[in-house]
Amino acid sequence: MNIISPQYDTTSYRHSGLSGLKLPVISLGLWHNFGSADSYENARNMILHAFNRGITHFDLANNYGPDPGSAEETFGRILKQDLASYRDELIISTKAGYYMWPGPYGDGGSRKYLLASLDQSLKRMHLDYVDIFYHHRPDPDTPIEESVLALDQAVRQGKALYAGLSSYNSEQTKEAVALMRELRTPCIIHQVKYNIFHREIENSLLNTLKDLGLGCIVFSPLAQGMLTDKYLNDIPPDSRAAKPTGFLRADEITDRRREQINKLNTIASAKDQSLAQLALAWVLRHETVTSALIGASSVKQIDDNLSVLENLALTTEELQEIDVIIT
Ligand code: NDP
Repeated sequence: MNIISPQYDTTSYRHSGLSGLKLPVISLGLWHNFGSADSYENARNMILHAFNRGITHFDLANNYGPDPGSAEETFGRILKQDLASYRDELIISTKAGYYMWPGPYGDGGSRKYLLASLDQSLKRMHLDYVDIFYHHRPDPDTPIEESVLALDQAVRQGKALYAGLSSYNSEQTKEAVALMRELRTPCIIHQVKYNIFHREIENSLLNTLKDLGLGCIVFSPLAQGMLTDKYLNDIPPDSRAAKPTGFLRADEITDRRREQINKLNTIASAKDQSLAQLALAWVLRHETVTSALIGASSVKQIDDNLSVLENLALTTEELQEIDVIIT
């Protein structure tokens, strides 16, 4: 499975907001399953398969692993080994904003932390630049202006082509984007959690992004696996919820949650879709959503998720049924 031959017509691409940059409607994130604790061969198979299926966008962060930093190392190794001649066909993003190293400069939103972290990320991935550099989360102890100026500096230095924000609320986003517009920094995307169980962005952020002309890439569209057929009956031993390093806690899969998952699965089956496909179609129904940023632990999951492209339609009745289930 080492032949690289991207089939760009097997997925589709949307502009990130009003920018010229197009992203695949399904992008792949390396938060789980790509660290030093995971199988390198499985990680490599997933990346190469995803790219062959037209997934051009891979999302990382300084702290992805475990160990922190090791997902970038894995990705850098695959890039070097297999994808070196495809750099111009790839959109690679990374972020800084969560704890990464000890002392006062390894966390938060300071200029010191963000720029040092980007240098470390580039080194781990053997890259001269990333396509998108994000501030991973707002830092209440740092003025937004300082974090924005650091993102701007990353672009001016040629170490990032575009800047992005992650998990900023509506007001914080407006403030950051206003500053970036003054600086003419190409801030083109916002990364935020959105799925059938987590709809907070519908209150205001989604409209703000539309008004600002920013793209929106949504993370955990499958609620870390809960919006798949994985947890219909129990917690499989190889699942994220069963792993000590997984961010999904087993106690989040309550009886009530399992009942909702089963009802949603019935809607999906009636449409001849998997629950994962239904959940992805649900987030992609908004034109403001540029891309659904999935995670995966196997090639099979990537293929299952990409099959959503065969049917993105959702009827008003189906949307209402989903609302009732989760209310
Ligand atoms: P998802 O909600 O897509 O969950 C992915 C998990 O769901 C997989 O690891 C797998 O679990 C399971 N899964 C995926 N597809 C299927 C399928 N077809 N059938 C059965 N199970 C399936 O996304 P993540 O929570 O992993 O987040 C995606 C990406 O978003 C991250 O990698 C990261 O890049 C980004 N992110 C950004 C954050 C931020 O703060 N900006 C925060 C969190 C994520 P299993 O491993 O159990 O098989």
